[in-house]
Amino acid sequence: MALDPLEEARRYVLDRCPALSPRRVLLAEAEGLVLAEAVEASEQIPPWDNTAMDGYAVQAADTVGAPVTLRVVDTLMAGRATDVAVGPGEAIRIMTGAPMPAGADAVVMVERTRPAGDDPDGRDAVLVEVEVAPGEAVRRAGDDVQPGDEVLRAGTVVGPAQLGVLASLGAAEVAAHPRARVGVLSTGDELVVGPGALAAGQIRDSNRPALLAAVRAAGCEPVDLGCIPDDESAIEAAFRAGAETCDAVLSSGGVSMGEVDLVKVVLDRIGEMRWMQIAIKPAKPFAFGLLAGPDGREVPIFGLPGNPVSSLVSFELLARPALRQRMGHADVDRPTVRASATEALGRRPDGKTHFLRVVVEQDAEHAYRVRTAGGQGSHQLAAMAAADGLAVVPDGDGIAAGGPVDVLLLR
Ligand code: AMP
Ligand code: MG
Repeated sequence: MALDPLEEARRYVLDRCPALSPRRVLLAEAEGLVLAEAVEASEQIPPWDNTAMDGYAVQAADTVGAPVTLRVVDTLMAGRATDVAVGPGEAIRIMTGAPMPAGADAVVMVERTRPAGDDPDGRDAVLVEVEVAPGEAVRRAGDDVQPGDEVLRAGTVVGPAQLGVLASLGAAEVAAHPRARVGVLSTGDELVVGPGALAAGQIRDSNRPALLAAVRAAGCEPVDLGCIPDDESAIEAAFRAGAETCDAVLSSGGVSMGEVDLVKVVLDRIGEMRWMQIAIKPAKPFAFGLLAGPDGREVPIFGLPGNPVSSLVSFELLARPALRQRMGHADVDRPTVRASATEALGRRPDGKTHFLRVVVEQDAEHAYRVRTAGGQGSHQLAAMAAADGLAVVPDGDGIAAGGPVDVLLLR
C-alpha cells in the first residue's frame, strides 16, 4: 500500500482547519490570542509632559553658572498636579512620573542637588550643583504613542508587552481569534487511569494527560473527554459530546489494523474521514476528518495513533499546526534548525522519514548539536520526555557521526 507523503497529509489537514471567526475578547482573556484587527491609539501616551527623575523642576536658564540656590515653592508626587508655577529663581520638588508644573522646562535629578535652607528635606531651598539644558529629564506628552498610531498590527500575538500597550490605552477588549477548545479522549479496554495496581493486560492511560498538556502548551483550551472503552456506542457518544462543545477533537488509539480499532469504525459511520498511512516513523497511522456539530459547524477530528510516542509526534506534525491555524496564527510550525549529529543516527531504508527523539545542545559558538535521547521505539516515552527536538532523518541509511541533520525544536 502506497504511503501518504507527510507534506500532502499536512496540506490536507491545514486546508480543512480554517481560523475561528474573530470576536471581542476581554483583555484579561486575550493572552496568547491573535489579533484579528489592528489596534489604533485613541489617545497619546504619555498623556502629558512629566518628569523622568526624582528631583527639582526648574527653569533651565536659572541653572546657568551652577551651583545656584533656588527657592522651593511646592512638592509634587506622581498622581498629583499643581496650580503653582515655577517662576524665575524657583523650583518644585518633583517625583518620577509627576506632571511637569507650568513654568518649568527641565528637571535636575535629586542626586545633583543639596538642601540649602532650614528644612533638612530641601522643602524651602535647594542648591543645584549642575547646569541642565531645556527638556532635560522631561518625558514629552505623546513621545511614546500618538493618537491614530497603529500600535499593534492584525496578526499580532498578544503577549505581555502587547497587553501592556492595550492597558495603557485603556482598552477593555480586543478583536481576536478565540482560543480553540480542543477535546481529548483516549480509547482502549486496556487503559486504567491514575495509580493503583495493574491487572494482567492493563496499562495506564498516558496519552490523555500528555495530549491535554500539548493542547494547552499550543495555546488552546483543553477539554477532557475521558478514557473510553473499546465500545462503539461509548466512542460515538464521546465524539458527539466533543463535537458539540469543542472546536476540534483529538483521540488516540483505535486507528490501526487491529480487531477492536473501533475509532475507525465509528468515525467512518458518523464523520467524513480520511484514513492515512503517512510515510513517517513513528506515527504512520493517522485519521483526519470533519464531524458535523449540532449547529452545523464542522469540527475537525484527529485520530492519532495509540502508541504514546506516536500520538505526540503525530500531534506535533499534524495536529499542532492545524490548531494554531485555527487560532489565527500565521506561523504554525516549530522552528527547525540545522544541527550536527555528535553520534551516528542510524536507520535502514523503508520509504519513510524518521523523526528521532534527540537531546539538542549548543556549543560555545552557538552551533546546534544533537544526540539520541534514548530508546527510539514508539512505546518508549522516556526518550520523548528526555528529548528537546525531533531529528528529521530522511529515507536512507541515516546520518553519520558529525553529519548535518535538520531538527525540529520542541522547546
Ligand atoms: P491501538 O492503536 O489502539 O491498538 O494502540 C496501539 C498501542 O498504544 C497499544 O499498545 C496500546 O495499548 C497503546 N495505547 C493506546 N492508547 C493508549 C493510551 N491512552 N495511553 C498509553 N498507551 C496507549
Ligand atoms: Mg486500542
